[in-house]
Amino acid sequence: MKKLLLSLLLQVFCCLPSLGWGRLGHATIAEIAERHLTPAARANIERYTHGTPLATYSSWMDEVVNTPPYKETLAGWHASIVTPDCRSPLYLRRLRRNCKDTVSGLDMMREMLRDYREMPDSMVLEAIKCIVHMVGDFHCPAHVRYTDEHNELKYPVTFFGKETTLHAVWDTGLIQKYSGLVYTDYKEYADRLDTWSRREQRRVSKGWAREWFEDCARDVRPYIRTVPEGAELGQEFVDGHIALAELELRKAAYQLAKALNTIFG
Ligand SMILES: [Zn+2]
Repeated sequence: MKKLLLSLLLQVFCCLPSLGWGRLGHATIAEIAERHLTPAARANIERYTHGTPLATYSSWMDEVVNTPPYKETLAGWHASIVTPDCRSPLYLRRLRRNCKDTVSGLDMMREMLRDYREMPDSMVLEAIKCIVHMVGDFHCPAHVRYTDEHNELKYPVTFFGKETTLHAVWDTGLIQKYSGLVYTDYKEYADRLDTWSRREQRRVSKGWAREWFEDCARDVRPYIRTVPEGAELGQEFVDGHIALAELELRKAAYQLAKALNTIFG
């Protein structure tokens, strides 16, 4: 059964090279989530990580995606799809993405890890790396696909005079510019963002992957098609979009904690 699930899992990882938050965003999400693990979840996860911070693994899926043996298998699961009114039922994900998406991916991970104690350690560790990445990825605004709008945003813009793509601005440029931080400062960024009350944390982490992704899609929807190709973006863009980016980073962090606590707690 485990082998079947793993091979299914590897089949569904396919070729959609879109990377999600950059390293700063993913590491910050993982760091906050790690701070909110239950003692039991922490102990069970550390059996596989041997104390390596989850932040270290948080961009692993992006790092290996173009290298053998992962090139053909790990390239999916970085985005998912919703209807214009932000619903993401299984039939839609199956129809439009053959379940190669972050929501289906997280569901499959949860199912696969039900008996994680009987699985090889290396397989559990890789699953942990995938979960840590995917929950972050489906909160990146450029990773929300709508049936009426692909929203990948891989078109050219300039950001503070530098040529880039709008996708890259969402992944990295925006939060780096606003925070003044780079990847290695992720703990500092986590300190800044990890400020929500326990009540607020519980509220945003109710439910599971589909609810989380649909909630993110509702947050993102007002911002689609607002930036034309070739736009010159600067401080005004930062001021108008940083609240959404940091909202999604926080939601991802507390939901990731919930996911790990549910599976390993
Ligand atoms: Zn990714």
